[in-house]
Amino acid sequence: MHQLTLAEIARGLADKKFSSEELTKVLLARIAQLDPQLNSFISLTEDLALQQAKAADARRANGESGALLGAPIAHKDLFCTQGIRTSCGSKMLDNFKAPYDATVVAKLAAAGAVTLGKTNMDEFAMGSANESSYYGAAKNPWNLEYVPGGSSGGSAAAVAARLLPAATGTDTGGSIRQPAALTNLTGLKPTYGRVSRWGMIAYASSLDQGGPLARTAEDCAILLQGMAGFDPQDSTSIDEPVPDYSAGLNGSLQGLRIGVPKEYFSAGLDPRIADLIMASVEELKKLGAVIKEISLPNMQHAIPAYYVIAPAEASSNLSRFDGVRFGYRCEDPKNLEDLYKRSRGEGFGPEVQRRIMVGAYALSAGYYDAYYLKAQKIRRLIKNDFMAAFNEVDIILGPTTPNPAWKLGAKNNDPVAAYLEDVYTITANLAGLPGLSMPAGFVDGLPVGVQLLAPYFQEGRLLNVAHQYQQNTDWHTRTPTGF
Ligand code: GLN
Repeated sequence: MHQLTLAEIARGLADKKFSSEELTKVLLARIAQLDPQLNSFISLTEDLALQQAKAADARRANGESGALLGAPIAHKDLFCTQGIRTSCGSKMLDNFKAPYDATVVAKLAAAGAVTLGKTNMDEFAMGSANESSYYGAAKNPWNLEYVPGGSSGGSAAAVAARLLPAATGTDTGGSIRQPAALTNLTGLKPTYGRVSRWGMIAYASSLDQGGPLARTAEDCAILLQGMAGFDPQDSTSIDEPVPDYSAGLNGSLQGLRIGVPKEYFSAGLDPRIADLIMASVEELKKLGAVIKEISLPNMQHAIPAYYVIAPAEASSNLSRFDGVRFGYRCEDPKNLEDLYKRSRGEGFGPEVQRRIMVGAYALSAGYYDAYYLKAQKIRRLIKNDFMAAFNEVDIILGPTTPNPAWKLGAKNNDPVAAYLEDVYTITANLAGLPGLSMPAGFVDGLPVGVQLLAPYFQEGRLLNVAHQYQQNTDWHTRTPTGF
């Protein structure tokens, strides 16, 4: 039963082949058995899950239906869940029980989804390996000595290991797409403003966006449907109608114009990944797509710009964790200043402290113009590159990451080496565009992802292309040994 996708679960529940309660018990038992190897969950919510599953079964018995009614999921541990620990992967919030549900959590619960738990993540979503978590690294089910990617590494590891069919994630610079690529999943970062950020603990507010991680594009469509939509409580949420994503999956790709940026195939890209990306292009050609070489000339400036803007916003967002209002407080503070300093010094891990310092520096008087303002200008140039490209093509295709997963600890002493892994993903966040990663093959037994980018609010186009690709390839069906 643990092999079922969301779409198959919806059919099984509708056909009364099993109940949500039965399925939930099977998955909870599987998590108890296998998660000790993976460390993909920070908290399990067994009681809530069984209660939600029973309620979903009762709703179905009363004639209700819906693709998410009774479907088991999990939330990245930065979505606030009422009365349940919401740690953000940090000692700072280890004792924090959110007093309310994030909009995404509330919407999915209303649609009947069953929450099995809260997944592991890099501390405050800062990272690409899930190694900055206060709760320890999550492991990649394809090889337990390798990272699953980050920062939504727990969601990715759990779904890839078939502990559950789908989970939420968030993506500030790649944290849905990159772990999806590294664990053979499909992951979608929506357009900025498509999914409410209310109750999603902020890292870099102008970049953060929640989205689905699942095995198939079909399942991402189902989960996104439950997450997307205008929310008056988020001032950056956009009041655009939400299309029926599942209904759009079967559109023909005849004549679809795919742009492949020449800058993507630079020296930093593993040549074996380049080959797999070109193989996926050939596959899409067979389905009727036409390929065009394009250029994104400012791409080389994306990493430096992102690693100024994201820490700058983080330094401001994380100032609320002061040891006074909520979260961790140091023992026996001598005075107020000691309270602030030690609570933050003891509560935040090294990567978070590094980013707060970089961000505060970039925003400080005298440096603001040289760093933050400059980075914002680069951000606009990157957006302009995309706008020009989308005048010529419908989709942009390339690798999700320059390398496959790396060994646990391999990049721990070199934060910049990890930052460079974000080269293909962060431009979509800087421009606010939607992006999807889907399985495209393997290198040394480790999964490789192909990334698709589309114009604003064209999530449906991404899902359509990915679904058609998945109807004609079987990379996404491969299962890690032992799971
Ligand atoms: N790896 C990037 C960072 O560390 C992206 C993280 C994310 O998307 N949350 O900032």
